[in-house]
Amino acid sequence: MARETKAQRHERMREQYIRLIELYPLAQCSLNHRNEWELLVATVMSAQTTDERVNSVTPELFDRYPDAQALSQAQLWDVEEIIRPVGFYHMKALHIIELSEALVERFNGVVPHTMEELTTLPGVGRKTANVVLGDAFHLPGFPVDTHVKRVTSRLRWHTQWRKTNPDPVEIEKQVTAEFPPEWWADVSHRLIYFGRQICHARNPECEICPLRESCPAAPQFLAQKAEKEARKKYAEQRKALKGQH
Ligand code: SF4
Repeated sequence: MARETKAQRHERMREQYIRLIELYPLAQCSLNHRNEWELLVATVMSAQTTDERVNSVTPELFDRYPDAQALSQAQLWDVEEIIRPVGFYHMKALHIIELSEALVERFNGVVPHTMEELTTLPGVGRKTANVVLGDAFHLPGFPVDTHVKRVTSRLRWHTQWRKTNPDPVEIEKQVTAEFPPEWWADVSHRLIYFGRQICHARNPECEICPLRESCPAAPQFLAQKAEKEARKKYAEQRKALKGQH
């Protein structure tokens, strides 16, 4: 791909994002929640598991413990038992109880709505805080999860794309600079859907990808696939020829 100017990259990002809007007209958080506290707790539990698994335990958890006050007084073993299906349940149970205690002690049980305050809570990093800001408070928030990192790197939406471990804060800074703040949460949702369904970590489906024509990473992936196919065909033909003797 020829070297792009900043303006050309901006234009390409906009056009690619329009394709993502067409692909996913409805952008929304896939963690079920009724308020900011439920979303905060669900997001903390979503580390290293799927949103479906989290959604499978939250009805019982929030039925038993409907707010920070209630969860702050819970027995660890009881919470562990309820959230067991999400994995790492010892650590996560401890985190959500400690988080509720901190909310009660320092914020009167109310979830704060600034990045600075949210990230003082135990187990709450920048990604979780951005989810809560964007999806619960409808404030600017751009969560950078593993899908957002991977997809934006392949699309070269930032200058971190060459790095094995791109810095999520830098990605957030550079990508959000290209879109209006009221779009940020939706941009992140659509990149996540796209990363889950098409631009997989292994074996991205470049052949059917609507961004293929303008994706800088597509030629390399398509060439790798063609080579793999050719090798497979060669091996099959060799096997067939051997079988004839
Ligand atoms: S063309 Fe391939 S690498 Fe590029 S965005 Fe699409 S699936 Fe991902």
